[in-house]
Amino acid sequence: MTQVFARSSMYNLMHEGLLQQISDPDDRNYEPLIDFENQSILRLPYFGRVHFVKEKMGLLCSSLILFYWIYGNWYTYNFIIIPHIIDGFLQPHAIILYGVISILTIVAFFRASFADPGKVYKDTHEMNSYGDDWTWCKICCIRRPNRSHHCKKCGHCTLKMDHHCPWINNCVGEGNHYLFMQLVFYAFVLSFMTLVLCILHMYVLPRCRSCDIQSVAVVYNRMCTYIAVGMSICMTCSSFGLFFTNHLSLHFDFTTLEWIILLGEIKKKQLGLPRIL
Ligand SMILES: [Zn+2]
Ligand SMILES: [Zn+2]
Repeated sequence: MTQVFARSSMYNLMHEGLLQQISDPDDRNYEPLIDFENQSILRLPYFGRVHFVKEKMGLLCSSLILFYWIYGNWYTYNFIIIPHIIDGFLQPHAIILYGVISILTIVAFFRASFADPGKVYKDTHEMNSYGDDWTWCKICCIRRPNRSHHCKKCGHCTLKMDHHCPWINNCVGEGNHYLFMQLVFYAFVLSFMTLVLCILHMYVLPRCRSCDIQSVAVVYNRMCTYIAVGMSICMTCSSFGLFFTNHLSLHFDFTTLEWIILLGEIKKKQLGLPRIL
């Protein structure tokens, strides 16, 4: 009886809490905390509302990014930074500098991944600020502000959608574009630093004196260095490319999707020329 009472009290508390969350004036534009077809929305302490897209390819790609970050940190600290600081060839500040950039990168990654990219909610008065130029989404069956697009992977329309990024397993839109830009910037700095440290380790700095000959840092030095160099070259080039093209798009106030549509139309016209002639 006590258990039933406890359960019912717990249920009432949870129910009241949920109702309070739904009726929260700041949250009136948001759906209640339920699972959507392609995503979960959770409210975590200290983190607030977290959006998690359930898509296999996105989960695989974002796991690869996490693996790269873990491997990069493990390799750089254990093979380069700590041994060369002990040997006196690197300053101890290298630990803090690399650590700060590394933490900024992973925080930006999680923020971009779990942020609401700008989901279009039904009948919200804030949406009126987007003017009268609205379009209709046949899939969601809702009106949406101009420049919104439907994302099949996320299962909703996104405000000023740039593209769906499998590497963060989230859409890039009005709500998280600045976080995506932060991420590519920090990813570029981190990868470039890793690459420079690898080159110094391979060609400039002397062999580790303080390392144990049987240690992983000595036995697997060459193999692990080649893997780190390969990964950091790929990440440096891709993050720089993304940072540059996104800056160009922001300068012209064009999204990636709008570039693709524009280029597609140009190509169509070019293909259409011979038929007209
Ligand atoms: Zn839609
Ligand atoms: Zn998406």
